[in-house]
Amino acid sequence: MSKVLFAPMGFTRYEVDQTLPARFERLLAKSEIADMVGGKTVAIKMHVGDRMTYSTIPPVFLRSLVSFVKEHGGDCFICDHGVAQRQPQNRGYTEAILGCPVLDDCGHLQKYYYTKEVNFRSFKHVDIAGYIHDADVLIDFSHVKGHGACGYGGACKNIAMGCVTTRTRQEQHSLEGGLEWDGSACIHCNACVEGCNHNANGFSDAGEYWVDYHNCTLCRHCLKVCPTGAISATDHNYEDFQQGLALCTKTVLDTFAPGSVYYLNLLTQITILCDCWGLTTPGLVPDIGLMGSTDIASIEQASLDAIKVENLIPAGLPEGFPLGDHGHLFERIHGKDPFVQIAMLEKYGLGNKAYELVEVK
Ligand code: SF4
Ligand code: SF4
Repeated sequence: MSKVLFAPMGFTRYEVDQTLPARFERLLAKSEIADMVGGKTVAIKMHVGDRMTYSTIPPVFLRSLVSFVKEHGGDCFICDHGVAQRQPQNRGYTEAILGCPVLDDCGHLQKYYYTKEVNFRSFKHVDIAGYIHDADVLIDFSHVKGHGACGYGGACKNIAMGCVTTRTRQEQHSLEGGLEWDGSACIHCNACVEGCNHNANGFSDAGEYWVDYHNCTLCRHCLKVCPTGAISATDHNYEDFQQGLALCTKTVLDTFAPGSVYYLNLLTQITILCDCWGLTTPGLVPDIGLMGSTDIASIEQASLDAIKVENLIPAGLPEGFPLGDHGHLFERIHGKDPFVQIAMLEKYGLGNKAYELVEVK
């Protein structure tokens, strides 16, 4: 059973000492980070958001982390995929504010990476971002939120989609699927489009059926209403994407020596979609706090366990959004079981989902 440090939001008095940034400093002091970073190059991987996003990690936490790493002898930088195109300065992610460089992890021209071959369906290449590959220590600092393609975005997604090139991101997305259309059987009655509650399907100008698997909850209404059986299910589904994320994460983590990776999950402003959408919607549940662990499966499990269906704030969903009736809140929203990702992390030997929560107040 792995230890997951947990700094909660709850407070009893109006005191600075009871705020989350203050508790974060105490969490860092209790973590293994101080022992990892001395004399090492430390990559702090975060999602810098995009356009109008404002729910990404606030600079106050990053400044504390950078100071802590430096105080303990680490030489750190903050990084993400495609930083230059994502206006990081709009959210305060600059060297002047955070105290260390903010870098594109594949280099400014996105040409600095190391390729490892994998073989899972259409996923063949993990192009590991050069600056991630070259670092001695990785601190994977994630903002937890929902994700259309896999239900949940946390520590695993932050690595799999953010420590690699665009080619590797695309190969992972190519694993999405689940529906097949037979054009020769289609009579273009449009029942499948009218029957979809998620704006996930349609026809191109050329009359070809398309599915947006990000929005698709794999409810199969389109399949059931089709009068000619032109739509069918394939053996290829969202679980492949989750497995791809775990495989990619393992391949990236394999470049680090044992005991050189720490995970931090921020559970505030937990939105329905990933920060890359360039927007922030109201939180789905009340803010929860911040977690830290050396075990990726444990921290992901603890984070998901803390996000409870009964705490749903309806304003966090688009008006009239149809919720599913079973599973985790993210499964009810996106139609994808987020725990599959954790099972896949365990399958690849990346930790153990059993955890002990240790409160840091
Ligand atoms: S499976 Fe459901 S969500 Fe997906 S395209 Fe069909 S009707 Fe829409
Ligand atoms: S419901 Fe079936 S037949 Fe009608 S448009 Fe959709 S795929 Fe074609």
